[in-house]
Amino acid sequence: MTDWVKPLPLPDNVSAPYWAAAREGRLLVQECPQCGNRQWYPRALCTRCAAEPEWLECTGRGVVYTYCVIRQMGTAGFRDEVPYVVAMVELDEGPRVMGNVIGVDIAEVHIGLAVEAEFIAVADDIGIPQWRPLPNH
Ligand SMILES: [Zn+2]
Repeated sequence: MTDWVKPLPLPDNVSAPYWAAAREGRLLVQECPQCGNRQWYPRALCTRCAAEPEWLECTGRGVVYTYCVIRQMGTAGFRDEVPYVVAMVELDEGPRVMGNVIGVDIAEVHIGLAVEAEFIAVADDIGIPQWRPLPNH
């Protein structure tokens, strides 16, 4: 497990399966059994029809939909990593998820960059997905 000094997510009854799956290296989004809507982040109800969503395991692949480069950050755990990239990644399955793009020079990050989830184990029941460009990006 990594030495994580940033704030930890606080899993609740709705989001705990998401964090636990990420701990196992699996990326989940929610899919509605009534209307087919897919959503991220985890919610108790479908945002389209208010049915109870189910979990859908994703490929862990997507493209950068948009991003920003963080160049100043005073908070412990983050300040040693500037500059870093925070992106919205549009998954192959549709939903957009937020995370850091890693393993690439920030000047090479661009909209449309193909990325794949890579998971950091930060606690026994919590993993955090980050996004690494696919080879030959
Ligand atoms: Zn629905």
